Parts: sequence; structure tokens; C-alpha cells
Amino acid sequence: MITIDTPYLPPPRFIWPNGAKCAFMLCFDVDGETTALSEDPALASRMTTMSQCEYGPDVGVPRLLGLLDHLNLPATFFVPSYIAEQHPRMMAAIVARGHEVGAHGHLHEKLAHLTPEEEKAILIKSTGILEDITGKKPVGFRAPWFEINPGTPDLLAEHGFLYNASLMGDDVPYTHPSGLIEIPGQWMLEDWEQFAFNAEPAWGVTPENCEKVFDLWWREFEAMHDFGCCFVLTLHPWLSGRPSRVRLLEELLTKARAKGHVWFARGHEIAEYVRDHPEARREVNFDHPSFTP
Ligand SMILES: [Zn+2]
Repeated sequence: MITIDTPYLPPPRFIWPNGAKCAFMLCFDVDGETTALSEDPALASRMTTMSQCEYGPDVGVPRLLGLLDHLNLPATFFVPSYIAEQHPRMMAAIVARGHEVGAHGHLHEKLAHLTPEEEKAILIKSTGILEDITGKKPVGFRAPWFEINPGTPDLLAEHGFLYNASLMGDDVPYTHPSGLIEIPGQWMLEDWEQFAFNAEPAWGVTPENCEKVFDLWWREFEAMHDFGCCFVLTLHPWLSGRPSRVRLLEELLTKARAKGHVWFARGHEIAEYVRDHPEARREVNFDHPSFTP
């Protein structure tokens, strides 16, 4: 076994506020019933599959909100507007606690399957519904399935969005030519790959042990803390609202906070900071021996 005595520590990629070494953006994608309905509307009659999806808004979100209250930490909830309409009490509970609500389609539509006109119409419709329900126009967007079209960043900027959280080309935020901020994520920091399972339609493989998932996420967090990155964790309440996984999240958040110098922030706070401090980002520089400026 190789022992690393002195871990490699490059200069940080990003200068975070108040001496923080990394940012921690906790996201909940509250897909609820649209998990099934966006795949096939006929699944509406599949009671067990639908009930598993409904567990998210009905049981998972309240439990997760309780954990956030307990830890006094903020989160960003990306909600398809159909789900926001179906679960008004859930939305009120999220908003009352000051968490951010971001756009996530209406029925969790796959953007790649839409024409530019359809994509624009759904963006306008879903944004309007969220604004009516929360009293605030969303400024953040997470594409359903994380997949956007080439025209999506410009479309979001034209409609007043401050940031997108869908691409994966970096591990610190960057700015699109339109001025839209990108807060990139990655599949490793997603719970679907770890926990999803449904018999038919077949979703996921085998629900993983929480210890394995904690190890996966904690190792990435610790390294991102050292490298000055933006740790973007994306969870689905129908998966991560199950009891043992709420415990997993409690352990992860508690340990991350205890490490110190972590900025727990909503997406809009990160995007506003990036917009107002363009000098904070350190571009990769192949001409420099350490690949930083
Ligand atoms: Zn989603």
C-alpha cells in the first residue's frame, strides 16, 4: 500500500468569501411524480411506482427540512412547476425557511427532446408558476437530467436567470458569454446513481450501503476543500429522504462544517458572488508549472 506523506496541494482554483476554502451547495431536485410522468404519462396508473415518487414531496422533504432546521443550514430546491402546483404546503414550508427555489422544467421534460420554441414556452410557463407560488421569480435553473441544449444558456440569460447548475466542465463556477453564471455539478455527487431502484420501469441497480456513499462523498469533499472547489451535492427527496440516508446527510454536513472554512450557500448567493468578484476564479494555465496563474 502506498502512503502519501505530503498530499499534493495546488494553489486554490477559486478565492471564496470570508476565508472559506470551498463552497458547499446542497441541492434537492424535488422531481416527485414527474420522475415517472416525464418518462411515460401512462405510469400514472402504476400505483406503487407513483407512490415511491410521491414519498419525496410528502415524507422526504419535511424530514429533510427538519434536518436543515436542526443544523441551521441553507439549501436550494429545484422544483418542476407541476410538482410545485401539486404540493402547495411543501412549497410554503420550503419558502418559509428561506431556502431557495430554482426552476426545473414543468413536467421534468428532457430538453434534448424539445424544439427551441417548446423549450422557451416551458421555461416561461414554469418560471411564472414558481413566481406565483413562491412570490419570487427564480434566478437559478437546473436542467432535468442535467442535460441542456446549445441555446439554453442564452435563453436563460434572456429570461433574467442569474445562473445555471447543469454543466460538468469544471469544479468551480464560471461565466457564459451571455453573463449567465454556471455552477457545475458532477454525477459522482448525485444520489440517483447510489440509491435509485424501481422494478418496472427499471430504475437504478442496487441501493448502496450508506457507509460506502458517505466514503465516496466525504473523500470528494475533503479533496475539494483542499483544492478550493465548489462542492455541489444533488439529492432527490424520494431517495435521500429515507431515514438512514437522512442520517448519512446529517453526518456529512456535520463533519463538513466541523472541518471549518466551508461556505454553505444557496445557488443564488454563489452566483452573485461570482458575478461581483470575477477575479475570484483562477483560470487553468498550461504554461505555468502548477497549472495555475
Ligand atoms: Zn430532476
